[in-house]
Amino acid sequence: MTATPARRVSAVEAVAEGGASGAGEVLDQPALAELTTLRVGGPADAYVEATTEAELVDAVRAADDAGEPLLVIGGGSNLLVSDEGFGGVVVRDVRAEIRIDAEDTCGGGSMTVTAGQDWDQLVERAVAQEWVGIEALSGIPGTVGAAPVQNIGAYGQEVAGVVASVRVWDRAESRIRNLPLIDLAFGYRTSLLKRSMHASPEGGDIWYPSPRYVVLEVNLQMRLGTLSAPIAYPELARRLGVQVGERAPSAEVRAAVLELRGGKGMLLDDPTAPDHDRWSAGSFFTNPVVAADQADLLPADAPRFPVRSALPSRTTGPSLGEIDPTLVKTSAAWLIEHAGFTKGFGVHGPASAATLSTKHTLALTNRGGASAAEIVELARAVRDGVLDTFGIELVPEPVLVGVAL
Ligand SMILES: Cc1cc2nc3c(=O)[nH]c(=O)nc-3n(C[C@H](O)[C@H](O)[C@H](O)COP(=O)(O)OP(=O)(O)OC[C@H]3O[C@@H](n4cnc5c(N)ncnc54)[C@H](O)[C@@H]3O)c2cc1C
Repeated sequence: MTATPARRVSAVEAVAEGGASGAGEVLDQPALAELTTLRVGGPADAYVEATTEAELVDAVRAADDAGEPLLVIGGGSNLLVSDEGFGGVVVRDVRAEIRIDAEDTCGGGSMTVTAGQDWDQLVERAVAQEWVGIEALSGIPGTVGAAPVQNIGAYGQEVAGVVASVRVWDRAESRIRNLPLIDLAFGYRTSLLKRSMHASPEGGDIWYPSPRYVVLEVNLQMRLGTLSAPIAYPELARRLGVQVGERAPSAEVRAAVLELRGGKGMLLDDPTAPDHDRWSAGSFFTNPVVAADQADLLPADAPRFPVRSALPSRTTGPSLGEIDPTLVKTSAAWLIEHAGFTKGFGVHGPASAATLSTKHTLALTNRGGASAAEIVELARAVRDGVLDTFGIELVPEPVLVGVAL
């Protein structure tokens, strides 16, 4: 998050103003550039901050009842919003609560966390309180509410490994529901929640750019202990001096992950030492998952990773599911680099307003004055170059609002 929004209004006011949307009122509302980590995007018609669950539900219901487009926003770290902005209501949950429901060495820990809670602060608390299973997810920006939407993952862990259930407001049925793990159908950077943006009972994308299910709270189950879950990512294992599959002290895992992420510009910007490599939405493209025979056609040195089910298996520990032998995940960063796009690449040269990060080819960055259109132009160039070279179409990871590649 980069700035405090200009003004807080109630759901009813917001929807009324969204409908009226005179120029003066629009100016009074924050630009999405102030609410997103890519720092691009024009104004929203209306903006609501919810401080209770009832306010959150009311704001969502009011927008839906009025037929206003709705954008539920967390940290804005996985969004690319158009320069025209968002012609609807932006709603943000500002509650930050972690409730411990149970904690004992036999059953482990069970916590209920509000959607607005900052994700990395939860990880910090988990490591301090010896809750195991999210230490490798240190440093991911954004909120707990958004974490299960795209099943955040990094360094061999995914949030799917610890989610027990999610309490949601179901916009289609206008009621609160509890979705257990089995219904959430997690996959690589996806879930029922994410897929629900595109599916309505009538067909079509009526909920987009937010899910049909608005996350109110997330219930997590974690083992207790000082040692991490088995390390599943070779680069992290090397940094920790352990073998893949071994455990390490969770505090060391967190420190190592933060260090690795810092070196790649994959932490949020520090306002005291601004770094444009961090003005991004993280990885802009997901790692392509391709059929095993398509992966055989890639150059011999292209990375090939096993594709695991997000659901933990009984034998491999809390974060590692069974391997699917028919699928292979390759590296979007490798494809981008080997298609000729180097770190710092810009469509109009290195001084372009939007370039690849100078530390990591997978992050598209705003060098200070970029527009959403310039980010899109860069994304298209990279996607098309990879398609021409390898026949693989990269898919954007962020949610695109009012723009398309
Ligand atoms: C520097 C950087 C590094 C990153 N590294 C990683 C990484 O390693 N792994 C990874 O997986 N991601 C990574 N990301 C992406 C991003 O941090 C995650 O996707 C994060 O979960 C987004 O959270 P948010 O609160 O910012 O969501 P937002 O960007 O605000 O919203 C994203 C989507 O989630 C929806 N949403 C938000 N809140 C709710 C809610 N309460 N209920 C329902 N829907 C909701 C929004 O409507 C939108 O569709 C990175 C991003 C940045 C900027």
